[in-house]
Amino acid sequence: LPKYDLKWIRKREWITVYEGTLWMNWRQIHFRVQQEAGNTQGYPMFVVDLPGLYDRPGIYNDPDGRPYGDEVQRYIAFQQAVLEWLLSFPWHDRPRVLHCHDHHTALIPWMVKYCPAYQQLAPIPTVFTIHNGQYQGMFGWSNGDYLPPYEASAKWLLDWNGIINPMATAIKTAWAVTTVSESYLYELHQNSLGLESLLRQEWRKEAGIVNGIDAQVWDPATDPMIVQRLENEDIAGFKLRNKAALCEWFGFPLEWPLISFIGRIVSEKGADLLPDTYRRFIQNGGRASFLVLGTGEAWTQNEFRRMAYDYGGRFNAVIDYNEALSHQIYAGSDFLIMPSRVEPCGLNQMYAMRYGTIPIVRSVGGLKDTVPDIGESDGSGRGIRFNQFSIEDAYYALYRAVSMWHNEPGVVDWLRKKIMAVDFSWEHTIEKYIAVYRRIGANIAPETFVEQTEEPAPLPAEPTLPKPAKAPRKASKPKAKK
Ligand code: ADP
Repeated sequence: LPKYDLKWIRKREWITVYEGTLWMNWRQIHFRVQQEAGNTQGYPMFVVDLPGLYDRPGIYNDPDGRPYGDEVQRYIAFQQAVLEWLLSFPWHDRPRVLHCHDHHTALIPWMVKYCPAYQQLAPIPTVFTIHNGQYQGMFGWSNGDYLPPYEASAKWLLDWNGIINPMATAIKTAWAVTTVSESYLYELHQNSLGLESLLRQEWRKEAGIVNGIDAQVWDPATDPMIVQRLENEDIAGFKLRNKAALCEWFGFPLEWPLISFIGRIVSEKGADLLPDTYRRFIQNGGRASFLVLGTGEAWTQNEFRRMAYDYGGRFNAVIDYNEALSHQIYAGSDFLIMPSRVEPCGLNQMYAMRYGTIPIVRSVGGLKDTVPDIGESDGSGRGIRFNQFSIEDAYYALYRAVSMWHNEPGVVDWLRKKIMAVDFSWEHTIEKYIAVYRRIGANIAPETFVEQTEEPAPLPAEPTLPKPAKAPRKASKPKAKK
């Protein structure tokens, strides 16, 4: 991670493991790589300290919401610093895979292939994961001088539609490309703000892998943030007591289903569909209560505030970021609605299911992959889905949920039990990434990845990396096998 000026980073102890210098357009930038003392997260964690570039109070924007004007320099410097540090590793200790995430690290697969300074790292297989295809990190050629020197023949790999597009560059140059769900990959082929043809062209190296969740943090039996933990497999008692707490706090009737929304209030998440859908539902006499937790766009936030005033006892909203409350809402709600316009993976639906809350989702991206509709003939159902981003479709999904709750309590109980038993953990997901690493020839020994143990898994006795390749002269597809 870049060493942001965040409380979470400041309160930890960091030990400098490397100090270096990089050049950016004839400017010298000093940096330090630091490791978290004690590996309190359960794995070694490193930050790159780039004074003047990342020691600021916001991550992407300043506290007023304005983007920083020097994004291009910041991301290029971070990527170069990481590569400079990796160059200092002895051969046998170099990473077996460079797995880069989103546009902020998207130039690394290209840099190691085409920048003479980093070509020693070219034999390391690279994977690029798209978490959000809407942000591609584009910048004009006028900023091209910030890049480290590169082979002239590699210039076209930076260009997409006349400007430098790091995400496009990674799709062209990484050895494998993944998205955070299969449906999202398919959707990007249809619509990805100009990258469609490129993604289709590179389909052979692409895969969609749904994210996992931290099953230890999100465990209804041990979660310290909820009023009632799951005991003796008593799902009904667990749900009822947690719901009772929410109903008391927010003034809802206990005998009606509670439908919640948690998330960023932005168009991507479709939160703007909710005010009118809820209004219609409440005005038509629908027997349900609604709760919202989130922050974001002013217009939708104000709509929620007004509704809390107009429909006291039926609707309430907490315009805040509150992790503890989110845990209580996952535990105490009957349904969780996610009307997303775009959803690369989505975590909320998985947390909800783990806590026995039935998801109501739009059929998009990761929601489609993780929440089959209860009407599916193969019996795979886990929740309620709707297709169109419209008040009518969302309304009908609410109607189905609420009538199931009132008329078929047995189905609700059965569904809760079923979704709480689904394994969404990373342990389950990780094998798919290992398969991708192996497919591109990464030297991943089987014993490197074992079930989580107290101690980190041992590295293979004699790790062997391919010899440094001669600098490739022109764009060449990576070989699948070495
Ligand atoms: P995205 O990363 O696109 O925002 P995800 O569904 O992948 O969406 O993850 C969102 C995460 O943020 C979830 O863990 C959710 O519980 C959490 N979250 C979002 N908004 C809030 C909030 N206002 N308070 C607490 N947690 C929130």
